[in-house]
Amino acid sequence: MANRAVFLDRDGTIIEEVNYLRRVEEMIVFPFAADALRNLSAAGFLNVVVSNQSAVARGFLDEATLKTIHEELTRRLKKDGAVIDAFYYCPHHVEGTVEKYRKVCECRKPRPGLIFQAASDLQIDVTSSFVVGDQAADVGLARQTGCRSVLVRTGYGKTALKELNGLKPDYVAENLLEAAEWIIAADR
Ligand SMILES: [Mg+2]
Ligand SMILES: [Zn+2]
Repeated sequence: MANRAVFLDRDGTIIEEVNYLRRVEEMIVFPFAADALRNLSAAGFLNVVVSNQSAVARGFLDEATLKTIHEELTRRLKKDGAVIDAFYYCPHHVEGTVEKYRKVCECRKPRPGLIFQAASDLQIDVTSSFVVGDQAADVGLARQTGCRSVLVRTGYGKTALKELNGLKPDYVAENLLEAAEWIIAADR
């Protein structure tokens, strides 16, 4: 049986947007994040982070540090009973300074690579899944993959609302907690 997932943006959605998080010490988890993720798990969704991390291509941090950040995020959420089932990220950017990561790729949101990879790894039915994020790229990602989308007003969300260029999220939520409530209700 196929799984359903909520594909979650990280920065500005689960944690504070700090304009390229480089060090684990700078990470601030939103106070409502654990509640939201717990509710989604209880409703039967996989919580899958899909994140553009061009900071890697830009040389601001390496993948080992990024892994440390994700382990710490996992640890803090777990303290409050919440689970992230998997992390997927795009380390690339066309204008990156680290040659290994400097390229046009299929995984930088709004391109669909991260979701297609996760769907294949975790047997996810994307058409019964959702994307939650604070930027137009997240809404575009949902559009490209056939997921429903929720734009949150945290992070860059307020600005993103004016930059959607015809993209239309299925719902606009105050934050991740309200997004989770809407998803769980919409799914019934
Ligand atoms: Mg974001
Ligand atoms: Zn990529």
